[in-house]
Amino acid sequence: MVPGPGEAVSAPDGAAAARLIVALDLPDLDGAEALAGRLHGLGVRFKVGLELFCAEGPRAVERVAAHGGVFLDLKLHDIPETVRRAARAAAATGADLLTVHAAGGTAMLQAAVAGAGEGGHASVLAVTVLTSMDLGDLRAVGVAANTVADLVVQRAVLARAAGCHGVIASPREAAAIRAAVGPDLLIVTPGVRPSGAPLGDQKRVATAHEARQAGATAVVVGRPIRDAADPVAAAYALIAELD
Ligand code: C5P
Repeated sequence: MVPGPGEAVSAPDGAAAARLIVALDLPDLDGAEALAGRLHGLGVRFKVGLELFCAEGPRAVERVAAHGGVFLDLKLHDIPETVRRAARAAAATGADLLTVHAAGGTAMLQAAVAGAGEGGHASVLAVTVLTSMDLGDLRAVGVAANTVADLVVQRAVLARAAGCHGVIASPREAAAIRAAVGPDLLIVTPGVRPSGAPLGDQKRVATAHEARQAGATAVVVGRPIRDAADPVAAAYALIAELD
């Protein structure tokens, strides 16, 4: 049951809660820790992204880790040696999950996995195609794909072959990825919205329940929790969809 205002937060289903990664897309650690602290008892995980990391640096990971597992979403994309060294430093922050762009290619993905292993214990997730992009956006930057799903699956297969532990994709492509790569690869899906919620800049969206049904391992949710009048209630509702 969702706790009322002022009531203690009791832990919901632990396995379902661990499938929710809450994006702490906030300008500073005071705000991020305040939100993470409110959600602490639920057993969710947290995403430190570019805004918070650029503002606060590696200490953001350390401080957020006091409230749950940390997904460090820096989406690395550079030459292999630069990415290897950056992944090593990123893993040394203590993060559990790191991201790189699959578009960087096999050598870069292999370098990311090697660097992450040198720095710590982080799993490497490859971003297939940003959930804010549709086929028109891809064509406008010169990507010749028949469908977004084709490209997402192609990049997921490439990432798996390069040794990545998982991929980031829209829930809409999770089933096709699962069919192509088998049961072991982690599939993490942003672009999750409760029915009727504002999309913002996201284009390829689905509900948390649909993401789970399609084979997603975990979902990343930012604004629907961060901007909710009651973020704890919003997180509870999403966890209930992830059973
Ligand atoms: O606010 P919203 O739920 O759209 O936030 C989604 C989060 O997931 C953001 O922090 C964004 O950086 C991240 N993300 C994404 N699409 C990807 C990879 C990460 O939206 N392909």
